[in-house]
Amino acid sequence: MSRLEPPEDHRICVCVRKRPLNQRETTMKDLDIITIPSDNVVMVHESKQKVDLTRYLENQTFCFDHAFDDTASNELVYQFTAQPLVESIFRKGMATCFAYGQTGSGKTHTMGGAFSGRNQDCSKGIYALVAQDVFLLLKDSAYRNLDLKVYGTFFEIYGGKVYDLLNWKKKLQVLEDGNQQIQVVGLQEQEVRCVEEVLNLFQIGNSCRTSGQTSVNAHSSRSHAVFQIILKSRGKLHGKFSLVDLAGNERGADIAKVNRKRQLEGAEINKSLLALKECIRALGQNKSHTPFRASKLTQVLRDSFIGQNSSTCMIATISPGMTSCENTLNTLRYANRVKEL
Ligand code: ADP
Ligand code: MG
Repeated sequence: MSRLEPPEDHRICVCVRKRPLNQRETTMKDLDIITIPSDNVVMVHESKQKVDLTRYLENQTFCFDHAFDDTASNELVYQFTAQPLVESIFRKGMATCFAYGQTGSGKTHTMGGAFSGRNQDCSKGIYALVAQDVFLLLKDSAYRNLDLKVYGTFFEIYGGKVYDLLNWKKKLQVLEDGNQQIQVVGLQEQEVRCVEEVLNLFQIGNSCRTSGQTSVNAHSSRSHAVFQIILKSRGKLHGKFSLVDLAGNERGADIAKVNRKRQLEGAEINKSLLALKECIRALGQNKSHTPFRASKLTQVLRDSFIGQNSSTCMIATISPGMTSCENTLNTLRYANRVKEL
């Protein structure tokens, strides 16, 4: 397959993105143990010790739909993940893109891009790139007559509860009616008319998300952030793109011991990530039963896992350093299982 050919089956696409070693890792002489020998293979070169204390490398190989090395731009990652799904929401589809990985591995960098940091010049993230294509397609002759309007929502799921990031973190109820329709009661849906307005929503929500935190990664790394771009035709739902910056998947044996609150947080995250894996697998196998009730995350995203018109991509982000080896292997194994039939 040539490098620029998009995948044939768009329903589930699982990719891996490696970030560069950062300043801190370089200073502490952490080693880069990840290689990407081709555009869909990731290798982990784990340093192990024999009984006689000599060291050797244990190499493990994983295959994905795509593997991006540390030189890949957000635009390139976008082209192979979320971009092929954008048009489906104009055809009444439900598209979803997840960023999955350890805290600090690049989830927010991938999703939020420039707006996750201070440097406004760096590249756009997936949110902005999806919005850009949505507004382009809105002008397309095929869709111009549908009378579509675009709305944005932004909420956070923390400890199994939903908080509206566009409404001062108001706690919201999630209700399921007799037809299994899920409703997040009172969730703010803001109409947006251009990319700038979408990014504005993202910035408002993001500052709401991180306010009152002692460190940047304190709370946001333990909550799932869901940004949705919704198309409505004459007030009725037409299509939806959900962009999800998942909670850090690190198991943190050290954290677990710290206190009860952290333990509960960890258990909740684990539960939701396991449920997510099962729901995506059910979608891939066209199963009639999807276990979406197993967590608030999957419950709220029910539409993403049901029906012929749903498609999903996952970007598993990994840190290159030897110090992150265990978390990296966990991420790669999880991403592998999502796709495995
Ligand atoms: P996460 O959201 O997974 O916790 P971040 O996206 O906040 O991680 O990334 C952690 C740090 O690494 C940030 O300073 C970010 O700018 C940087 N970073 C992440 N991915 C990349 C990348 N592909 N290229 C350059 N820097 C990156
Ligand atoms: Mg983050």
